[in-house]
Amino acid sequence: MPSTSRHCERSEAMKFYSTNNQSPTVDFKEATINGQAPDKGLYFPESIPKFEKNFITNIEKFSNEEIAFNVIAPYVGDTIATDKLKEIVSETINFPIPLIPVTDSIYSLELFHGPTLAFKDIGARFMSRCLGYFVGRGQTVTVLVATSGDTGGAVANGFYGVEGIEVVILYPSGKVSPVQEKQLTTPGKNIHALEVEGSFDDCQQMVKQAFADEQIRKKRFLTSANSINVARWLPQQFYYLFAYSQWPDKGHPPVISVPSGNFGNICAGLLAQRSGLPVEHFIATCNANDVVPKFMETKKFEPKPAFPTLSNAMDVGNPSNFVRVLELFQHEIPGLENIFSSVSITDKETTDTIARVFRQYQYTLDPHGAVGYLGLETWLKSHPRQKGIFLETAHPIKFPEAVEKYTGSALTVPPSIQGILDKKKVSTRMPANYSSLKDFLMSRPEIIMQ
Ligand SMILES: *Cc1c(COP(=O)(O)O)cnc(C)c1O
Repeated sequence: MPSTSRHCERSEAMKFYSTNNQSPTVDFKEATINGQAPDKGLYFPESIPKFEKNFITNIEKFSNEEIAFNVIAPYVGDTIATDKLKEIVSETINFPIPLIPVTDSIYSLELFHGPTLAFKDIGARFMSRCLGYFVGRGQTVTVLVATSGDTGGAVANGFYGVEGIEVVILYPSGKVSPVQEKQLTTPGKNIHALEVEGSFDDCQQMVKQAFADEQIRKKRFLTSANSINVARWLPQQFYYLFAYSQWPDKGHPPVISVPSGNFGNICAGLLAQRSGLPVEHFIATCNANDVVPKFMETKKFEPKPAFPTLSNAMDVGNPSNFVRVLELFQHEIPGLENIFSSVSITDKETTDTIARVFRQYQYTLDPHGAVGYLGLETWLKSHPRQKGIFLETAHPIKFPEAVEKYTGSALTVPPSIQGILDKKKVSTRMPANYSSLKDFLMSRPEIIMQ
């Protein structure tokens, strides 16, 4: 078996600084517990580990568990014991992540075989296990999270029943699919769903205000499970390496198209590439919420209210992880443009793609995957010698209406989903203003992490 030197670095604790530069640097444990830095910046690794050349050239000889451990170990440093980290890693990825050819030049990396049928399972499963490990006996942490659709279910599933952790999920009423809603409103136990009469951006804003509220922070220890948390962001690198491990033409690295909303997923890919993963080019494919495609054109970052689309998990008007993309390129746009493009795809183009790909290739795309597919296909038209991968980020069954309508074919409901659909939704409805959230949090029994 080829050797790697990456786990030799385990004794040294990697430090994370805040992108706002006004907070102390912290290790992985503190970054995970804090979520966001006190100065409201996002944590970013002080140095970026490099993969051993041997590790990349022999990647097919490593198991997924070994690959994932090698990727994450330098970031975790000594904050989690080696055996425990190996256990967390293997529980995180205990489902298949296949690379499926759709055409001669387009492959689908299916990230939807986890328990809640979306790629967010990977980050949520890793984070919940790390946080569970860090929270001591008798302590309680409140995980506060806003969801545009898939985060809620993945976080609810990942944290369900974890001792010492209470989860409060905010979701925009009527703007998530029925399966998504059931996944976050039916677990019960330590999972609470707040149904907000507003948009995802309203939910995100309410969560941000709670984190800034000293009165609440005195009463309960809050942390975030949004993709800003390093323990959710960093493990998303895993499957870019799994994809490369399955890539048939290692001499010609793939173009990778990532359906993007908050930009955590693609930023993890860029990070893996910086560590030495061969990737020809990254395309951030967005729906009509085009803040980043516009930024790449005008160099002005102008957040705007989120606009509802069929690919609802990408309806983000102020993508919070994009600052990490800029940080990775030290805010130098020419360097970024070399490796990264961003395009916007309409709902009409999305549904046309679902119909066409099903007709021509008998492959069923969900709306998010369709956005990624079309972004890649368009790129390959002007780069005919290249081949690529799009990330299929959710199972089509999460969006049955759009998918069945445009493929003209009925989907089979996986048994795991049928059970959830039969359960009763339990949520607390509230208007989209911060005082409602504050009342909810203040009225709950006092819990504090010592
Ligand atoms: C969350 C989500 C996205 C967007 O990922 P980001 O990391 O926020 O860019 C894309 N597709 C699906 C299905 C999602 O759930």
